[in-house]
Amino acid sequence: MDDRLFRNTMGKFATGVTVITTAVDGEPYGMTANAFMSVSLSPKLIVVSIGENAQMNARIAETGEFGVSFLAENQKDLSMIFAGQIKENLNVQFKWQNNLPVIENALANLTCKVFNTHVEGDHTLYVGEVTSLDVVEGNNPLIFFEGKYQEIH
Ligand code: FAD
Repeated sequence: MDDRLFRNTMGKFATGVTVITTAVDGEPYGMTANAFMSVSLSPKLIVVSIGENAQMNARIAETGEFGVSFLAENQKDLSMIFAGQIKENLNVQFKWQNNLPVIENALANLTCKVFNTHVEGDHTLYVGEVTSLDVVEGNNPLIFFEGKYQEIH
């Protein structure tokens, strides 16, 4: 099967956009990811999928914990910064939640402890047990569909 056909077909599934974060020796790092899913209510588990070339793998392996921030529609620049698509003005203000850096003014911020990992093909699935939640009401999400950012109208 052709890679492009696979990617284009998966792009028909509209998602929100998250930033996965962690801190190594107090230094915050983030990466943009839309492969996020809520998994279980008891215990409270979520999963994110991270490609084998991402530096975030080594960082999460070191810290054993990560944050997930659901981006709001006015946070497209942050998505681009943490996907390496914007390389200037990288002075991002994080806020700290449960000793993890998360994105200020995101729709919701979770912190997680790594509960399990599964290497599947060229990605690793990180199952996280949610250790804290913070929700901000009233904003719309940033949407990713057909390889482009979209907003709800
Ligand atoms: P790096 O390349 O180290 O970091 C990524 C970027 O974030 C760099 O440009 C870096 O300068 C910047 N950055 C990191 N920390 C900071 C900081 N503290 N302050 C300022 N800037 C900082 N990949 C996946 O594996 N899974 C997905 O689900 C996924 N979904 C995506 C969804 C979208 C909408 C997009 C646009 C990309 C997605 N990607 C996904 C691709 C992924 O975001 C990039 O490949 C990313 O660059 C990989 O990051 P890295 O861990 O290698 O980190």
